[in-house]
Amino acid sequence: MKVPAKVKIHMWRVANNYLPTRSNLRVRRLEVDDNCPICQHSEEKIDHLLRDCMFSTQLFAAFSINLQNYPVDGRWLEWLASWFTTLNVKQKVLSMISYWAIWYMRNRIVHENATASIPEACAFVAAKLREFEENEPDQTLPSVTSKVKWEAPTEGVVKVNFDAAYDQASKVSFSAVVCRDNEGFILAAGIVQHQNVADAFTAEAWACLQAVRMASEVGFINIIVEGDSLTVLKKVRSHFLDNSIISPIIHDIKEAAKTIASISFGFVKREGNLVAHLLAREGRQVQCPQFWIEEAPQSIMEAAEKERPQSPY
Ligand SMILES: [Zn+2]
Repeated sequence: MKVPAKVKIHMWRVANNYLPTRSNLRVRRLEVDDNCPICQHSEEKIDHLLRDCMFSTQLFAAFSINLQNYPVDGRWLEWLASWFTTLNVKQKVLSMISYWAIWYMRNRIVHENATASIPEACAFVAAKLREFEENEPDQTLPSVTSKVKWEAPTEGVVKVNFDAAYDQASKVSFSAVVCRDNEGFILAAGIVQHQNVADAFTAEAWACLQAVRMASEVGFINIIVEGDSLTVLKKVRSHFLDNSIISPIIHDIKEAAKTIASISFGFVKREGNLVAHLLAREGRQVQCPQFWIEEAPQSIMEAAEKERPQSPY
């Protein structure tokens, strides 16, 4: 799970019922009142606090996560493990952060006389999730320093590189897309022109969208979309819609990606994205839009040839 260590440690305490709930404290004779500090309606056992309490029920409902609330009978960990298998990755992360949030809120109620607020808890979880995603070192994206050359995909996978060229004065951008196979041969390429593009950042987002659309239209079913715009790629991979000016384009990229059976997004340093970069610059010279199947302009063919795994260069 891509969550910080503190959330994992909290989850470990939750799973093993090591949280100092009132019920646990009373067992150790450290507390007399074992009433749930949030709802005051039930003993504050782990399953009540994190599952059955009105507060937790509403919080999970807000994230559309189904709780299987059959009786725990002291086998909390068993229930937790079984419930977790019903969740997808995003729901697992949300649940772990929610557990963390519930405990945080619960402590504020106990120690600071705060009141329980579902909107506040939801905002807390959403903000934490966003914070974790932004600070995440992106283990799945190759690290910035490790890769400076274009690398061919494995057999059966098509690598789709995209890049944009942007002209500030005319507000015109060119999206270039180059699709290559495991031997580095160009399967398809294309250039599309966009008008009224606000900035270079937006131009990159358009190029990424073009890459996914083109791969889908040509009929590739197993692709890696690769570009040198880390910001765009991070937004495409994020679970959240951001509020930046490119969010509608990011939304379209995610929708277009659903039409492809297997698709992933990778970041490569500029040097590894050379062919797409050259093709984007070519945009000014060619009639746009233009598409090529199993070929590309001469200069692009030559640049791609140099990057082939078996290249004599
Ligand atoms: Zn309660």
